[in-house]
Amino acid sequence: MSVLASLGNPTDTPLAGGFADRLRDSFGRAITDLRVSVTDRCNYRCVYCRTGNDGAQYAELPHAGYLRMIKLFVSLGIEKIRLTGGEPLLRDGLLELIQEIAQLRTPFSGDGLDIAITTNGHLLAGLAQPLKDAGLTRTTVSMDAVDPETFTAITRVPRSFDRVLAGIRAAGAVGLGPVKVNCVLLRGFNDSQIEAFAEFSRQEGVIVRFIEWMPLEEDRTWTPEAVVPLEEIVARLNAYRPLVELPAHAASETARRYTFDDGLGEIGIIAPVSRPFCGHCSRIRLTSDGKIRTCLFSQTDHDLAGRMMRGASDDELTAYIRQVVMRKEARHHIGEAGFEKPSRSMVHIGG
Ligand code: SAM
Repeated sequence: MSVLASLGNPTDTPLAGGFADRLRDSFGRAITDLRVSVTDRCNYRCVYCRTGNDGAQYAELPHAGYLRMIKLFVSLGIEKIRLTGGEPLLRDGLLELIQEIAQLRTPFSGDGLDIAITTNGHLLAGLAQPLKDAGLTRTTVSMDAVDPETFTAITRVPRSFDRVLAGIRAAGAVGLGPVKVNCVLLRGFNDSQIEAFAEFSRQEGVIVRFIEWMPLEEDRTWTPEAVVPLEEIVARLNAYRPLVELPAHAASETARRYTFDDGLGEIGIIAPVSRPFCGHCSRIRLTSDGKIRTCLFSQTDHDLAGRMMRGASDDELTAYIRQVVMRKEARHHIGEAGFEKPSRSMVHIGG
């Protein structure tokens, strides 16, 4: 069988029945959330993520490969797919892939999937309606400053800020909202933006989520001192206007949610460094070259695509996925003595 045929032959994928048990790890956590990187190319070079150079080799599979792997995961109980990268909107054929994913039903309830995307928004304005039409349900846009100059200093790409703003507005307008806007805070770089982001959430009707910087960057510049922790963000927001904590939507939710005393605006704070949430982790990741990662901080990849290319059957592949998931780590060890940086950086994992 050719490589392409072996990657893209989903005909015998069991979508209904055949698997009584949902995917669980050895700690009993149900794995329901799959993040799929469809490319590790990116048109930004954010200072906290990438080196300034752009000479890396890229790793992508044909869409049929991702689709076959996604079908296998869905047959095991995955309910939510997040497409990411690299920058997923750079990927040719993305709309067709979303259309195919939108046809899938989870065998346990018969419901369709929640299909989300995380994008830097540079190409979003023109694609928001086609993405919605293809079956995308939600959008998260990364935007690390509301001040255009700071934004450019972080992304190292000129004249993109207005495009991202237009993308956020277009996504909301076509019904891909409420749009989440992710901001990774770096002390001394964009922490001046906290109050401005609160204002932005209130004015634009978007959910702003502040994320603690994790040691996942290409050039190994992370330091604990550069992380702006949850407690400090909460104090700053409270001084701006009293915060009111909102209940979590689900135990596995990564963000602590807040609004303000007048109910206007929503802020999420994702604090993997100061308040890890590994105990409720429901996530598993597929890299753009088809490797399973059980944790952002794993030291090992598990080569699902390689097994497909060598002609493994769907039964063999699902058995392999179950085996790999049983090896999911209990938690990460950021900030502990002996912490080892993971074997891949964020752009090559998929955030
Ligand atoms: N290119 C897309 C984007 O910009 O949203 C998707 C990929 S990007 C790797 C996904 C998310 O990871 C972005 O919100 C980005 O800010 C975040 N991210 C990247 N490196 C990070 C790090 N070291 N710590 C925390 N978040 C990070």
